Amino acid sequence: MKVLKFGGTSVGSAININRVISILDSIPKTSNCIVVLSAFGGITDKLIAVANKAVNKDETYKASFETIKKDHFVIIDELIKEDSKNEHVKNIVLEKLTNLEQLLDGLYFINELSPKTTDKLLSFGELLSSFVISETMKSRGLDVILKNAQDLIITDNNHTNALVFQEETENKIKDYFKNNTAKTTIVPGFVSKSIDDELTTLGRGGSDYTAALIAAALEVTELQIWTDVSGMYTTNPKIVKQARPIENLSYQEAVELSHFGAKVLYPPTVQPVLDKNIPILIKNTMSPKDLGTYISDENSNGSNLAVKGISNINDIALLTLQGNGMVGIPGFSKRLFETLSYEKINIILITQASSEHSICIGILEKDANAAKMAIDQTFENEISLHKIDPIIIEKDLAIIAIVGDNMKNHQGISGKMFSALGRNNVNIRAIAQGASERNISAVIRKKDVKKALNTIHERFFEDRSKQLNLFITGVGNVGEKLIDQIQQQQQYLKKNLKINLRIIGLSNSRKMIFNNKGIDLNNWVAAFNFADKSSIKGFNKKVIELNLRNSIFVDITANKNVANVYADYLKQNIAVVACNKIACSGRFKNYKLLQELSLKYNAPFLYETNVGAGLPIINTLNNLVASGDKVTSILAVLSGSLNFIFNNFSDRKNFHDTVKQAQFEGYTEPDPRIDLSGIDVARKILILARENGLKMEIEDVQNESFLTQDNLNANSVDDFYDSLKKDETHFQKLFASAKTNNCQLKYVAEYKNGKAKVGLREIPEGHPFFNLKGKDNIVMFYTERYPEQPLIVKGAGAGAEVTASGLFADIIKIASN
Ligand code: ADP
Ligand code: ASP
Ligand code: MG
Repeated sequence: MKVLKFGGTSVGSAININRVISILDSIPKTSNCIVVLSAFGGITDKLIAVANKAVNKDETYKASFETIKKDHFVIIDELIKEDSKNEHVKNIVLEKLTNLEQLLDGLYFINELSPKTTDKLLSFGELLSSFVISETMKSRGLDVILKNAQDLIITDNNHTNALVFQEETENKIKDYFKNNTAKTTIVPGFVSKSIDDELTTLGRGGSDYTAALIAAALEVTELQIWTDVSGMYTTNPKIVKQARPIENLSYQEAVELSHFGAKVLYPPTVQPVLDKNIPILIKNTMSPKDLGTYISDENSNGSNLAVKGISNINDIALLTLQGNGMVGIPGFSKRLFETLSYEKINIILITQASSEHSICIGILEKDANAAKMAIDQTFENEISLHKIDPIIIEKDLAIIAIVGDNMKNHQGISGKMFSALGRNNVNIRAIAQGASERNISAVIRKKDVKKALNTIHERFFEDRSKQLNLFITGVGNVGEKLIDQIQQQQQYLKKNLKINLRIIGLSNSRKMIFNNKGIDLNNWVAAFNFADKSSIKGFNKKVIELNLRNSIFVDITANKNVANVYADYLKQNIAVVACNKIACSGRFKNYKLLQELSLKYNAPFLYETNVGAGLPIINTLNNLVASGDKVTSILAVLSGSLNFIFNNFSDRKNFHDTVKQAQFEGYTEPDPRIDLSGIDVARKILILARENGLKMEIEDVQNESFLTQDNLNANSVDDFYDSLKKDETHFQKLFASAKTNNCQLKYVAEYKNGKAKVGLREIPEGHPFFNLKGKDNIVMFYTERYPEQPLIVKGAGAGAEVTASGLFADIIKIASN
């Protein structure tokens, strides 16, 4: 004999009920089974809602009642087609529903809803569903009888959450089934009766428990819980997409997971079957072939997984009782727990520091105010004498717990859990670990639950894979290239580096789009066209609100205001990757602050592309410094634009036209003065000097301009070009001098003895800069370890493609962090 329980999710519609019937039909004719049923999906919630309306004199309770009636009739019409049977069933259902309606009318008049009446009301759900389904099966010629669980399950009088009297219940069940030979016996779940014959219920989700009580009393071979997921998952599949069913669990693991929120199994369910060593199989009605989860007494020593699952309970409040008067004096905890027990408040988690100065308890948020009042009263005397402080309540919290029998045999599990949470800025308010080491729980902020579950799941279950969530501002040339590169590499990264890279948000100065499942990179341009209006702060706010783990903000603008929000990102533990130079070349104080925030909040701040686009210049310098080398001087050509200009300018091509060409080909900033004034190169050498540990401001970089005063005074880009044309002789003189000296003109940045300067230099033949082509950059590091032959980094130092790949490299670097 087997006991099968089908939850509300399995009997939520006629289609699903037909699935249930075909599962039952596939059981061999020779074996009898008992089928425990929940109310039709969602009906229990609707019954609670309609009762609340009625009791609060909200007339719409009548309409809500009609919806409940309609829900039932629709199902009956779809299940029972034969007119006379259909009518017969409907008439009986209508009779029951009329009783329900009268009860609601009564509530409306008396304005009061006691737990006792709540039980009467809620029991309609299961009584109706089991009646309708048993009639459906009968109408299809199946051998079915219906037995009301209220004759079988006997409880105390604690309405809405009654305590089962095991012995009486067991005897009643045994008695009844002794003489029952029907192939299928249908029993409504959840409902029960007290010894004094009042209707009671077993608590929300209680149908699982009904099934377990019957399974245990009859010592059946297996208890099957049929639901809408393929077993107990590694964590709530509605919150973590990557969650997967757990094949085997021990009873204790199942108890821990269900107690800590795995709703798929009502926690009291395990005890009765555990006592009789009956295994539980959790199966999916929508996909009966899936293996499901097998729960038995074999503890999972066979499995090498230390952590089997992760659970969460939301809506937690933390109560703290503290005070110097508690230290070394016994009895405080006893009085505290007694008070809560008296108030029927369930304690979910307890921690006490060894100093005994405070006790922290986690309870459901709905109980918090009552708990505070009761405890403050109990300790009134001590509080008035200032021996202890009035109780502190913190709300909006949640508990997350990792569970596994084998955790005790593995070192460092809690370290892994807490470091993963810490890296993602999930603040932990309290920690509890049972002595059995089967459960490690942490109290966190409710708004962090999704991030925390995903982070821990990734850490323990996802084969070291890592999801990176990108938020990009700036979709110009470089931005587009970066998106292309990401799209191209997504599969490769997933397969080879186990990095799951997704772009969640995209914005420019006008628009922004978000998709927390990842923007479709094939269609982002079209989506962007219909995007919402954006603002820098609005984008930042949304990124913080989404609160995704491993979030990275990517700045592909040259905008000062965008650079000003880096601190806001870093403080939220969101990494920043930027090709925008403004933050690192602005005030030293701000540069330093960003470095400090990055360290403090464990949020990488990477800007390799600030100098030499995709070339590994900053990284090389950082490695030299970190490994203890001393960089004595740096000599570099750092402007792709200026290099292009001086490589093309000659006595046959005038300076004005050369600059125009450079701009046309995209080698200069939109305002070429930024390049030609040397300010861009000055910023780059400043950044290198700072990375080398120097406290330096942009004014400290000596800038020897090769432009004329008129060029420098130009008020607009057009004026600037005019002045270049007018001053052609000046530029030709520069060229002629270099030619006479057999030199090439290069715009050089130098750093030496703590000083930095930039300017145009005549470079003689044989010097590494002499043959520098096109828009290439070169940097020579002279260090204690490289005193004569410098360490040289050379290559294309500008262009959208290489800048994008530099940004990409910074992003990947964060994944391996
Ligand atoms: P039923 O109506 O069948 O009793 P429940 O809604 O009570 O179903 O329980 C099933 C639901 O439990 C799933 O749909 C899922 O959203 C939720 N759930 C939460 N945590 C877990 C978990 N760890 N494994 C499986 N399901 C979970
Ligand atoms: N119908 C009840 C509820 O929704 C009991 C159950 O489905 O297990 O809580
Ligand atoms: Mg359930």
